[in-house]
Amino acid sequence: MVSYGGLRFLEGRWSEGFLVVDREGNATVSPTPKGEVVPSILLPPIIDPHVHTGDTFLRDEFAGMEVGLHEAVGPGGFKHRALRDSHTREIVHSIIEFIEEASRAGVRYAVDFREGGVSGIERLRRAAVRCEAAGMLTRVVPLGRPSNGDLNDVLEWTEGLGLSAVRDVDWDVAQGWADAVHSAGKVLGLHVSEQEREDIDRVLSLEPQLLVHCIECTPDDLVKIAKKDIPVVVCPRSNARFGLDLDMAKMMSAGVKVMVGTDNGMVAHPSPLSEAAFLVEEHGLELDEALGLIENAESLNPTTGIGLGTGPDDVTVVRGRAPEDALLGDVIGVSSDGQFKEMGEDI
Ligand SMILES: [Zn+2]
Repeated sequence: MVSYGGLRFLEGRWSEGFLVVDREGNATVSPTPKGEVVPSILLPPIIDPHVHTGDTFLRDEFAGMEVGLHEAVGPGGFKHRALRDSHTREIVHSIIEFIEEASRAGVRYAVDFREGGVSGIERLRRAAVRCEAAGMLTRVVPLGRPSNGDLNDVLEWTEGLGLSAVRDVDWDVAQGWADAVHSAGKVLGLHVSEQEREDIDRVLSLEPQLLVHCIECTPDDLVKIAKKDIPVVVCPRSNARFGLDLDMAKMMSAGVKVMVGTDNGMVAHPSPLSEAAFLVEEHGLELDEALGLIENAESLNPTTGIGLGTGPDDVTVVRGRAPEDALLGDVIGVSSDGQFKEMGEDI
């Protein structure tokens, strides 16, 4: 019998708590320890609500580039050209690399705004099957992006659509896609006002359930989003890389449910805890506020029905003795469905 813990962060507060694990790996959360105690911190399950897995392999090449947002990830920009010119095998490998990194960062679920239509989904499936067989932790939940008229197939194989800015596609097309995703009972995710403000009434008329960025939204725009209970995912390190001015005080005072995501694999290592550390260091957030943004992602499931499954005894075990050690992100293991999975060679 071994107990991990000491400190537990839950629902925005710290308390004493332990994850008691027996020889068979059965795990239960308890207020008191049993057996040997490994000093550690129990965090909620980590969900990354906004990623792009396919471009992870471009990270080294991209690191040395001095380019703005549109040149880097906009239509016809560096990322899209590189993905178009890459072999399927390269992209599958890129997704595997992403899942490996995310697993080590303790990520249970990552919501992938998967590009490339049905073939993009197929690449993810090939990667995911191999990662699951290898025992890796992270499950990637795809929101697809139609390509060449394959809308219905994309919807069949995904949890919904994850589109770039509405302005990147013809308005009639955007409306058609939105209608289709809602009639299929699935989720519509959109990038919004990342670099330039978009008409929020127009965007909200598509009835999205998940918005990303919203940097250039006015406080009034954010209030409208909050009134509709639509969560907003911020991606601080990605924004900093592109010189975009994320105003966290504006986001948090508008009453919006804010979550933190890692965005492109080529831009940032897929660790929400690293994003939280960045928010504390660079945006002046309190530790509890930053961890609270990670915890907020758990509400994606009930609010959007996106299909993430976590239970009340599911925790992430991070090495450390003091609350701030959580931001070092040294994940020991996770418990899910009453079983403890320790970080090892295979994860
Ligand atoms: Zn994105």
